[in-house]
Amino acid sequence: MICPKCAYEKTCVIATIKSTTVQRWRKCPKCGTSFCTIEILKTDEELNRYAKEALKEKLDRPE
Ligand SMILES: [Zn+2]
Repeated sequence: MICPKCAYEKTCVIATIKSTTVQRWRKCPKCGTSFCTIEILKTDEELNRYAKEALKEKLDRPE
């Protein structure tokens, strides 16, 4: 995960909170910014819909 403040690539995970979503508290060792990331569950159905929309967008756009 890249630091949102200074774009440093190696941020540290301070804590992980697991429930139906996974939250990770991270800290950037370079600038000291701490922030939280949340993992979102995507089902196959959602992924298929996304793929269809992406394809449709491609077809709608004249090249
Ligand atoms: Zn940083």
